[in-house]
Amino acid sequence: MVKMKKIKFITEANKNLIKNFYKDFIHKYNFDVALAFVLLILVAITASIYPYLIQSVFDNLLDNHRDSWILFPLIIALVAFIRGVAIFLQIKQVSKISLSLAVDVQKKLTEHLINTDLIELNKLSSGNHVSRIMNDVVLIKEGFERSINNLIRDTLTILALMSYLIWLDWLLSILVFVIYPIALRPIIKIGKKQNMIATILQQQLEIVTSTLTEMLQGIRMVKSYNLEKLEIKRSKSVLNSLFKKMFSLVLGRAKVLPILEILGGVAAASVISLAGYRVSIGEMSPGSVVGYVTALLMIAQPARALGTFNTVFQEAMSALSRIYNQLDVKPKVTSLPSSTLFEIRKGTIPSIAFENVDFSYNCNTKALDNINFFIKGGTKVALIGQSGSGKSSIINLIARFYDPINGKISINDQDIKNVNISSLRKNIGLVSQDTVIYNTSFFENIRYGNLKATKKQIINAAKNAGIHDFIISNHLGYNSILSENGNNLSGGQKQRISIARAILKDAPILLLDEATSSLDAKTENEINKTLNKLIINKTTISVAHKLSKMNSFDQIIFLGEGKLVGIGTHKELLKSSTFYRKLLKFHEIE
Ligand code: ADP
Ligand code: MG
Repeated sequence: MVKMKKIKFITEANKNLIKNFYKDFIHKYNFDVALAFVLLILVAITASIYPYLIQSVFDNLLDNHRDSWILFPLIIALVAFIRGVAIFLQIKQVSKISLSLAVDVQKKLTEHLINTDLIELNKLSSGNHVSRIMNDVVLIKEGFERSINNLIRDTLTILALMSYLIWLDWLLSILVFVIYPIALRPIIKIGKKQNMIATILQQQLEIVTSTLTEMLQGIRMVKSYNLEKLEIKRSKSVLNSLFKKMFSLVLGRAKVLPILEILGGVAAASVISLAGYRVSIGEMSPGSVVGYVTALLMIAQPARALGTFNTVFQEAMSALSRIYNQLDVKPKVTSLPSSTLFEIRKGTIPSIAFENVDFSYNCNTKALDNINFFIKGGTKVALIGQSGSGKSSIINLIARFYDPINGKISINDQDIKNVNISSLRKNIGLVSQDTVIYNTSFFENIRYGNLKATKKQIINAAKNAGIHDFIISNHLGYNSILSENGNNLSGGQKQRISIARAILKDAPILLLDEATSSLDAKTENEINKTLNKLIINKTTISVAHKLSKMNSFDQIIFLGEGKLVGIGTHKELLKSSTFYRKLLKFHEIE
């Protein structure tokens, strides 16, 4: 039983994968696949007619029939023509389906990634995600192409040619069919080893992709710490391992070719000597010998393709299973089917409440531990605490980037777990420390705040965020293109763009996570003035790094190691909390 399982070509798991792949992707192309099958059959048939034609030509030539120089050339030309057209259409048809499938899978994966939880996303590096979308999809495309070409066209061709060989001379054929598979054994062995190396190679490719992505993303850090040598050494070492894996794969392939060459030669020689003998005793016509050898030579190519098919097929299957593993991960932070639209009645400003909230990024350590607070609508709240104390985590939970493991977060008495996520986020403006800048114009970059905004509104928002003058000082003004990650902007300029987006969005809840941390004191003052205008009639939570102006907040929430250390106004905390007094002293601010 165990042995049976081992040699099984399609395992139960693969069967399921193929079923799902058909249901999710291939079935759309049923008609195209049927058309491809017809063309593949045509190509296989035209191939197997050749040896018979050649046999007839030779026999006729030797018998001095006139047919041989009028009729046969015409037939051969016609078959060649039909075959040529069929090959072209078949390649076109199969490529059309396989490329469409590849793009479909890439679109589906990308869509899935965008909708995935941050927790799931962070489990793999972005290099890994990219490798899945690029490399794994290519493996599936190749697997699909080879499945159709090899399993249909090549198998048919081989069967047709084998029938012809048996029809010509069954005794000789039995000899060939028995000896060949035995001789092919070493090749099968090499194939198995190749399989293993191919898997390792794929892993190595993923490592190279992530290493290079990481290197480019962190290039500023690398340069500032003079880590170039280390990075070059690291990239050289992963590239060297890639070379080794690739070389052993090529070496395996290189061993197969000479074995096939020698086998082919020996086979041809023995067939010719046996056949020659049979011709001499009148049991075989010379034309049949030529036809026989032609067919035998023609079998070699599809047989070789079938020999390597399993490798490609298994690789495609493991790529498919990796992709399905990804697609099967259902986001945990979702809008429930029963979710209601989050709506804020006109004239009211949303309040925010945390009740016994526990939260953890990785199940081991708690980022937030039993947090309770109430923020009245329309107030301005400061979130303070040392770095790592959980300030950003609170912001992340309000925007539902994550869900708490225990407890309840409500806005206007609606548990945010039960409302539709996008309707919730529509009401939240977020300005965080790490601003995302896209490789497009200032206009488009600010427009992300509100896709429906007019040019006038965008310019107004830029003016309010104090970035307008800088934008128009650029050669193309608002149409100037920013570089990736905003590499041609200062940290402060990036933050102003982020603030302009929030101004444009004009949401009733404003979350500012160290929004002004990259600004110098003077600009920070200016921006704060703008923000003060922006926050009128809004509920604002501001993660404050610097502890000046604490008395301008309606409430201060003070965190320490994920726990609530104190809550109240500046005056109240000064009175009640020794920790607060210590923290202020630490910052040397009264
Ligand atoms: P703060 O904003 O106050 O500096 P955070 O809320 O970002 O702190 O972090 C709280 C804790 O959660 C820290 O111990 C931090 O290491 C951890 N943490 C933050 N983000 C992640 C993440 N994406 N994955 C795992 N742990 C995280
Ligand atoms: Mg933070």
